[in-house]
Amino acid sequence: MTLNRSLYNQPRSHSIFRLESVWVFEAEDNLSRDASHHILGYYSSLDRAVAAVRMTDKDEYTYAFLILEFAMDSKCRDYAAPISVRSYDKNGKPVDECLQNYNLINQFEGRNANAIRFHIGDIVEVLDGKRLFTAIVAELPPTPEDGFYGLDALDDSYMVLPLESGHIDHLHIAPTHTFSLRHPLEEECANYLRTRLLIFQGREDKADMSSICEIEGHQYLYNFATLPSKSICRRCHRKWLADYSGDLINGEIWKQVDRFENDPRTDDELVKEWSNRK
Ligand SMILES: [Zn+2]
Repeated sequence: MTLNRSLYNQPRSHSIFRLESVWVFEAEDNLSRDASHHILGYYSSLDRAVAAVRMTDKDEYTYAFLILEFAMDSKCRDYAAPISVRSYDKNGKPVDECLQNYNLINQFEGRNANAIRFHIGDIVEVLDGKRLFTAIVAELPPTPEDGFYGLDALDDSYMVLPLESGHIDHLHIAPTHTFSLRHPLEEECANYLRTRLLIFQGREDKADMSSICEIEGHQYLYNFATLPSKSICRRCHRKWLADYSGDLINGEIWKQVDRFENDPRTDDELVKEWSNRK
């Protein structure tokens, strides 16, 4: 019988521990990957659940393990939220823990600064439901020293900007679901994320907007609706001239240029005029 009461074997009565494995499949475009959760078992103690992690066969798809603690013999609120969550990497090594009760409102005082594993600007992998995103950390979880009042367990999260062309602006991700990068990131993708962070921080003047276009594509504006001869990207201000004299089926019509000759308008003026043109 051990009397050691560290976080990992603190006895908690009336709890049940659900062990899940998370599988992730590699995606062709590398932007985000599908993740699936599989319930491996229910355990009467944390020790037994952790032992099960160690004994589970790890295959090539295994990304992580989660142990979710639920209160027994107590009425759920609107939904059955866990009262704690712990995560482990694919080898069963502890990653992080959120020991706040997700059913309690206004009961979170902040995460201890020494339990914050990442810095603003770190590139990480985050598990958001059925997707694994590569992302850059934009905000850290609040600490008790920040003096916020009325925080909930959901506030124990990193705010991240994901590597996702299009619709997702930012995500709030629990520390248990925030992981170190497994593979080095291509420079093009890292530049994209760092630029998004600069934009988020209001430092557009320091940002190279073309690194956004490298991932999301250019936002072309044209001087004419039919047979345009000039084009500019609304975001990065790169410019192209059209040449219709060649073979229209196989030839490259658009050629990138540094500037439009004999055109005194600034980039901002061109963007403004051609954006408004119907
Ligand atoms: Zn562009």
